[in-house]
Amino acid sequence: MPELPEIQAHAERLHRAFAGARLEQFVPLAFTALKTAVPPADATHGHEVVFIGHRGKHLLMDVGVATFVIHLMQGGRLLVDEKQSARPRNGQARWLFDDGQALLLTEAGSERKAGVWIVADDPEDQPPLAGLGPDADTVDVDGLQALLLAHPMRLHGFLRDQRILAGLGRRLANEVCHRAQLSPFANTAKLDRDDIKRLREAIAVCVNEGLAYERGLDAMSSSADRPGHVHHRVGEACPICGDSIRSVEYSAYTVAYCPTCQTGGKVLADNTTSKFLK
Ligand SMILES: [Zn+2]
Repeated sequence: MPELPEIQAHAERLHRAFAGARLEQFVPLAFTALKTAVPPADATHGHEVVFIGHRGKHLLMDVGVATFVIHLMQGGRLLVDEKQSARPRNGQARWLFDDGQALLLTEAGSERKAGVWIVADDPEDQPPLAGLGPDADTVDVDGLQALLLAHPMRLHGFLRDQRILAGLGRRLANEVCHRAQLSPFANTAKLDRDDIKRLREAIAVCVNEGLAYERGLDAMSSSADRPGHVHHRVGEACPICGDSIRSVEYSAYTVAYCPTCQTGGKVLADNTTSKFLK
């Protein structure tokens, strides 16, 4: 799933291409694509794109009278629609602009979770943004400490929870824990001030590294190509210490970590196969 750096760089790219364009029509192509009924889509027609930005993993397209909030989820993409074919493959929704350009929301697979919300007034107060934590790269050490103390849980789960911190997912949770030299299973309430400073720095480093990579591309990267030390690198050598990257497998994701860098050499119990290793 694209995370904060991919979404932010994509928003920057789309802003350069579409800011100032006048929206002629928003067309849902699949009945599940548009998640809101009010305001109606045609209230946005004829209005110019003020900016395209992001909040956490959501893309925002502000057209003045309303904001389109777009969540790509796992398989969604918001693409410049060159062909504008009548029945685009995996097409979910389309924005047609008066300069002849178009944007197409696609979603591969059958999950149909990607979606578009049209919201008037402040999008922060309404679904799907209401209840999101602050963007992960905007929190200072004190703010992070307060959030950690308020949510005692495993660090990896904390980093992935959008209601606590927005923008990080499975990949960056793995990378941030590694850069901070903290166990993904560390209890958030037990981290000391030095741990929290390293965690704050690790979030900044990982987000900036991802942003620098994405900004060098013409389109959003595929997940296997994104920079990192541990994610998608299980069994490879840790670039810091040379130990083997290990994993704990869950049905929906993999926690990847380096024992030497993060757990004092301890191999974490695998969730499915080796509970006895504790
Ligand atoms: Zn290591």
